[in-house]
Parts: sequence; structure tokens; C-alpha cells
Amino acid sequence: MEPFLNEEQLAIRDLARTIAQEKVKPVRARYDEESIFPWDIVEELAKVDLFRVFIPSAYDGLVESGLGVTNMCLATEELSKACAGIALAFAGTALGTFPILLYGTEEQKKKYLPQIASGRRLAAFGLTEPMAGSDASAQRTTARRVGSEYVLNGTKVFITNGGEADIYTTVALTNPEKGARGASCLIIEKGTPGFSFGKKETKMGIHASVTRELIFEDARVPRENLLGREGMGFIVAMKTFDVSRPGVAAQALGIAEGALEEALRYAHQRHQFGQSILNFQGLQWMLADMATQIEAARALIYTLAARVDAGDTKDIGHLSAMAKLYASDVAMKVTTDAVQILGGYGYMTDYPVEKMMRDAKITQIYEGTNQIQRNVIGSWLAKEGARLAR
Ligand SMILES: Cc1cc2nc3c(=O)[nH]c(=O)nc-3n(C[C@H](O)[C@H](O)[C@H](O)COP(=O)(O)OP(=O)(O)OC[C@H]3O[C@@H](n4cnc5c(N)ncnc54)[C@H](O)[C@@H]3O)c2cc1C
Repeated sequence: MEPFLNEEQLAIRDLARTIAQEKVKPVRARYDEESIFPWDIVEELAKVDLFRVFIPSAYDGLVESGLGVTNMCLATEELSKACAGIALAFAGTALGTFPILLYGTEEQKKKYLPQIASGRRLAAFGLTEPMAGSDASAQRTTARRVGSEYVLNGTKVFITNGGEADIYTTVALTNPEKGARGASCLIIEKGTPGFSFGKKETKMGIHASVTRELIFEDARVPRENLLGREGMGFIVAMKTFDVSRPGVAAQALGIAEGALEEALRYAHQRHQFGQSILNFQGLQWMLADMATQIEAARALIYTLAARVDAGDTKDIGHLSAMAKLYASDVAMKVTTDAVQILGGYGYMTDYPVEKMMRDAKITQIYEGTNQIQRNVIGSWLAKEGARLAR
């Protein structure tokens, strides 16, 4: 019995689970070791229509109403149970697509969403710059309006799916004098003259995901690629994070679930002092905490995702921040404890828990660090406090 999910969502979860277990698990260690981008897995996901689960039916997707955030979370969770890096080709595409889903015109949606739904073209989201990390308002990339085009100059860093994706929703300053209020979000296609890819990062974890610079040198983008209105770029980014952060939370949840499974399997089989180490209360208590935290994270994510899918996206910033904050801290704790439960073997690459521990770390950092999530929750609480005191 699954209290949160309907039949269709259960079917999506099972489909993603099958691919994760049958296709992702066997290759995850090699893809991690050799930093291989998982194009073959992308093809498998496309074959079973998993890129359609967050796209409305009007644009070749499967979503009848709302944003399909629950579907996106379920697929991300299942894929991340097997490999969080491979899962990111999917989840990063959802992140890059949300600005179009939220702010795209009919023409933009008709043009781009069916391509993404088919899995033929991946998406990415370009906000971060060398001087604009947590302070995303410190953008330097400019998009100067010249006739019927925007001319972009600047560099984005740390962009997931960079170089592999075809569609980049990107924030740039159309009115630099206005600072964050002068930022706009544009759709930029790979192959645009003046748009190239720079440094590919070498990372602690999620090696099967590519993290790369986007470089704009007089890159010309048609004006019709503007999302929303000029000056709305920062709002587009923040509203995107409201609905994409549950996806990072789901990735973290998947990593934690995968690690708990490995720890349980190992603890059952491993014998010390003449018995299974799973009999030791010291380990059972650790496992009890891990399992409890996972269930709490799941409840937080699924209820939030259901709320978003029901169309309630107005005042959810603090809830998205809570889901991402809590689930990623759980993932870090659970994977660290899983390594501990496997002892010396947990530290070795022969077992997947050391990779899970490395992968978990990123969920505390991207789409806003956990300090920033606490700031979001804190400022919501400050407003609540003022309201209660009135
Ligand atoms: C693997 C990877 C993939 C990524 N993918 C993308 C992507 O697809 N698209 C994209 O746009 N970006 C992406 N990012 C960027 C990511 O979102 C940023 O790295 C993140 O927001 C933090 O910015 P920063 O690295 O500049 O750290 P900084 O902002 O320099 O932060 C450094 C430290 O200071 C703390 N800090 C900063 N400000 C405050 C504050 N006000 N209060 C308390 N503490 C604070 C931070 O929490 C952190 O601990 C990715 C990053 C990585 C590593």
C-alpha cells in the first residue's frame, strides 16, 4: 500500500526502478570511474517515455494537469538509488525545462517541449557564474538587445549537462544598470554562433554527470527566445527552484535508500564474533535512525510534490527549501553511516557505498547550498513571526 501515489505514478516509479536496476546498476561503477556521460541510459529512458512524465500532454507528454513534479521526483529517486550521477542527465533536463513550462509562450512550448519529451534533446539551466554563486543576483553575463536579437557575452560555470544538452535556459542581464531587476531568462540552443563550451569540471562525485562552462562571445539569440518579460529573469530562476528543488530532494532520497539497502544486505551477510553483525544493537540503532530519516524525507517530498501538482505553487519556497535541506542532510548522514556499517570494505571501491557518500555531498550544495535553504526558511519564519505578532 502506497498512501501518496496513484496508479499512474506507481507505474512510472516501477518503470524507472526497472531501468535503474537492470540498466544503470550494472554500469554505474564503470561510468563513475571513467566519467562516462550516460547516453545509452538516456536512450533507454526515452524508449519507455520517461522524459514525457514532466511534460503536459498537449506537448507530447503524459501530464494531464499541473507540472508532473511527483512523476519527476519518482523517476529521479529510483534512478538515484542506483546512480545519482546517471540520474542527473534526466533531473538536469527537468531543471532546464521548468522555465519553459512555467513561463514559455505557446510557440516556445510547441517548439521545445515535444523535443524534450521524446528524449531526443536534453536541457540544462544556466544561472551560476564565477562571481554569482549563492548570490545569484550578482550576474555579469549580458544580453544586449540589437534589432530582433539579443547579443550575449559572459560565462556561466558549473552547468549540469553542459555540452551534452541542446536546450539551455539561461539568465543574463538585458538591463545591467538595474542589477537583478535587469536580468532576463532566454532559451539558447546548442549550435548558436558565439555559444561554446569551456572547462569540464573534475568532481568529487556524480562522475557520470557532466558539469561544464557555457561561454558566450557575441552569441546571437532571437528575441522570441525570451522567457516571460525582460527583467523577470531572477523571478523565473526562483520560481524554477521552487519546483525543481523537490527533484534534488528526491535525488538525495534515492541515494539514501540505495545506501540503506547496501548496508542492510551487507550487515546481514557479514559475521563477526560468531554472528551476523546485523544482530548487534549498536548497528540496529544506526539502521533504525537511517530508516526513520528516509521515511520522514519521503513524506516531506511526496506531500510537497502532490501540492505542486495540484496547482498550489504560490507560497511554497520555504517548503521546497525544507525538502531539499532535510533530504540532502539525510543522504549525507545515511551514506556516511552506511560506509561505517561496511567497515573497511565500505571504504573500498569494490562496494558502492563510498560512491554514494561522494555523490550525496552535491545534494547539499547545488540549487542553493543548505545554508541558503536555511536562509529561505528563516526569512519565511521572520515574516510568519511578524504576522503572528500583529
Ligand atoms: C556539480 C555541480 C553542478 C551544478 N549544476 C548547476 C547547474 O546546472 N546550473 C547552475 O546554474 N548552477 C549549477 N551549479 C552551481 C551551484 O548551484 C552553486 O555551486 C551553488 O549555488 C553555490 O555557489 P558557489 O559554488 O559559488 O558557492 P558560494 O556562494 O561561494 O558559497 C561558499 C560558501 O558560503 C556559504 N554562503 C554563501 N552565502 C551565504 C549566506 N548568505 N549565508 C550563509 N552562508 C553563505 C555557502 O553556503 C557555501 O558554504 C552546480 C554546482 C556543482 C558543484
